Amino acid sequence: MQNNYPELFVISAPSGAGKSTLIKKFLSSNNNFELSVSATTRPPRDGEIDGVHYQFISDDKFTSLVDENAFIEYAQVHNHRYGTLKSFIDNKFTQGKSIILDIDVQGYMQIKNSNIPNSSIFILPPSFRELKKRLEDRKSDTNAAINKRMANARAEVQCYGEYDFVIVNDDIEKAIKTFEDIIFTKNYDSNKNLIEKILQDMLSY
Ligand code: ADP
Ligand code: 5GP
Repeated sequence: MQNNYPELFVISAPSGAGKSTLIKKFLSSNNNFELSVSATTRPPRDGEIDGVHYQFISDDKFTSLVDENAFIEYAQVHNHRYGTLKSFIDNKFTQGKSIILDIDVQGYMQIKNSNIPNSSIFILPPSFRELKKRLEDRKSDTNAAINKRMANARAEVQCYGEYDFVIVNDDIEKAIKTFEDIIFTKNYDSNKNLIEKILQDMLSY
């Protein structure tokens, strides 16, 4: 399936909620969409490839890109800087590709406040405990990093109302189906009671 013209989709979620999993699955069967490759000062994790997962750059290089106005948004997340490159977006739009941005809430708010046309999705985990478990099972972060991500998660989930759509990623197959429906129909009513329950749970720790 394909939309008629290139569009921008912004996806945010607390780290570990499953946004990469959902995006990867979506992209594997929708080749008219591309994931934006952000620039970051974070060091690569095992298996991450420069230019594929991120452009891994130095702090000085990031600062010069900011000075050159090269980003449509940028933010500091978990001690490192991340930014979406204008050149990447322009290039893909010219090729007729729709773009998915996997960015944090601060970055999304910059896009929203700049009135850049976009559709936005916030992914929630089913609970605080499940989020922690997913981060632990992923084995990609130290305990200290996980604790920082969990603390950030509490702040981030409170911003879900800024987004056009909210998906609870409990059952993965259901979440994937909802993700696709939203992208192609932009029509989905989230379960507000469930979302409020999850929010209370996240804030109770
Ligand atoms: P994010 O990109 O939001 O940080 P990931 O996509 O890396 O999160 O997912 C975090 C971990 O949780 C991964 O190990 C992934 O396989 C797992 N995961 C993702 N979605 C689900 C789900 N619905 N149920 C159980 N585990 C999941
Ligand atoms: P990770 O280090 O796990 O790859 O990403 C950490 C967080 O940074 C995630 O919430 C991700 O969405 C966010 N992020 C990745 N790229 C960008 C970006 O270009 N801009 C912003 N604002 N956040 C980003």
